[in-house]
Amino acid sequence: MTAGRPVDVAVVGAGPAGLATAYALARAGRTVRVLEAAGAVGGRMRTLREHGCLIDTGAEMFPGRTGYPATWRLITALGLDRDPGAVPAVRDALAVWRDGRPRPHAGRPLGLLTGAGLGLRARLDLVRLQARLARLGDLDPARPEASSLGTATVADLVRPYHRDLSDRLVGPLAGGFFGWDPERSAAAPLAAHLLTCGSSASWHTYRDGMDTLARALAEHLDVTTGHPVTRVTRHDGAVRLDSPRGAVTARAAVLAVPAPAAARLYADERPAVRAFLDHCGYTPMLRVSLVLDEPLAPGGPRSSFATLVPAAEDRLLGVITADHRKHPGRAPAGGGLVSLIASPLGCADLFGQPDRTVAERLIARAGRFVPGLAAHVAHARVHRFEHGLPEATPRALGLRGAFARRPVSAVEYAGDWVMLRPCSEGAVASAALAAERVLACLAARSGLSRTGPGGATALSATALSATALSAADPRPDDPR
Ligand SMILES: Cc1cc2nc3c(=O)[nH]c(=O)nc-3n(C[C@H](O)[C@H](O)[C@H](O)COP(=O)(O)OP(=O)(O)OC[C@H]3O[C@@H](n4cnc5c(N)ncnc54)[C@H](O)[C@@H]3O)c2cc1C
Repeated sequence: MTAGRPVDVAVVGAGPAGLATAYALARAGRTVRVLEAAGAVGGRMRTLREHGCLIDTGAEMFPGRTGYPATWRLITALGLDRDPGAVPAVRDALAVWRDGRPRPHAGRPLGLLTGAGLGLRARLDLVRLQARLARLGDLDPARPEASSLGTATVADLVRPYHRDLSDRLVGPLAGGFFGWDPERSAAAPLAAHLLTCGSSASWHTYRDGMDTLARALAEHLDVTTGHPVTRVTRHDGAVRLDSPRGAVTARAAVLAVPAPAAARLYADERPAVRAFLDHCGYTPMLRVSLVLDEPLAPGGPRSSFATLVPAAEDRLLGVITADHRKHPGRAPAGGGLVSLIASPLGCADLFGQPDRTVAERLIARAGRFVPGLAAHVAHARVHRFEHGLPEATPRALGLRGAFARRPVSAVEYAGDWVMLRPCSEGAVASAALAAERVLACLAARSGLSRTGPGGATALSATALSATALSAADPRPDDPR
């Protein structure tokens, strides 16, 4: 059975990467269909609307324009920032728990004065580390493999400095927000990300839920939800995408799903691509959202939005967020919404446990940081992500260059993992690359110039960055 007429491009996955790719291709004049397995768009940026709350299941926030340029270009192209209240800044964004209370202003210059959980020597070392990274001049989130940090791990990077830097800031940041183990994860992608994103004072969120961008993109696109793709094959110049809902045929396809899922869908890949896909591991993520009858938070009503919990304080909890502090509209007036995000160790311990056990164990541990928490929980919701965040191991980093230089193909990829950048900006930036590559492939097959009608020039008009093909071989792998 073939579902619908053939299209130019089928995109698998309606997370930010798939939707941004489809939007760029549609703006370039191509017919595009997005196929999504879940019942709604957004992927790991989905928001649930329950109990009068906006519950962000995965992504929480994003920095300003300098840190996430591709995301902000899209926000502006879609007109989302015409209403300044729609993309608000997050005030008092980050604290670190130390000696019985949260220490505010972490990750921002003010924290160098107030401490933010670091003693004087550690703060001086933080300034030295930041200066060293800035001097490198080769930390580019789009090409982390090109940095002179090479394949050093996060632990290698911070080892020469005061121990608190690793235990009270870098380790909790890497573990709590990326799920990364500093001993196992490469330093260059994290350092490039932190340097580009700058101060935590620049953090923003979407007033109407973190799925705002996905929903806005989907309004412009042909998206079918509840459509799991099970296999992708190439036949006679076409790509066929099988699903229990029926097969879809397209001239090209973009697999905008986590790397292990992409590797399972399309078996017929070249060795350099397959090697990168196989080494793109993911760390799982586990979060419990708690709807509260009072706006409780670590440190009381004037708390920061997110509090990092170092392993020395608790080995299973990584971050506690007071979502009602992120934006008051996240919870009804007088109520609260708090998330408990498991540390990498907590994830390993709890991931396979029933929801009730996960919630009970994390709530019990969080009581130390939010006194009386258990008595105020009206509803608890567990969110599990087997493929939580892509982890840039030194091996994956070493393989990325060859992956980026592969010839363009009728089957392309998008996703945060493509950039080895575990965040929504990585996903959106990868979309510009994928769209450019698909357009180049289609143009080469039909003998059109890439910069002709519907080509790269039209793509630039989508307001996504169109840098894409500088590293890649623009000749299709198979010109059929
Ligand atoms: C707990 C957590 C917290 C995070 N916090 C932040 C944050 O604060 N800021 C930030 O910028 N980023 C954050 N992220 C990361 C961010 O959510 C991801 O980087 C981003 O969502 C990746 O987008 P994507 O489109 O590549 O993948 P996804 O969002 O995973 O989208 C992939 C889509 O493909 C679909 N799919 C998978 N297989 C198939 C199939 N076979 N057929 C059809 N559809 C399929 C999935 O259902 C999904 O909708 C967080 C992630 C997690 C898990």
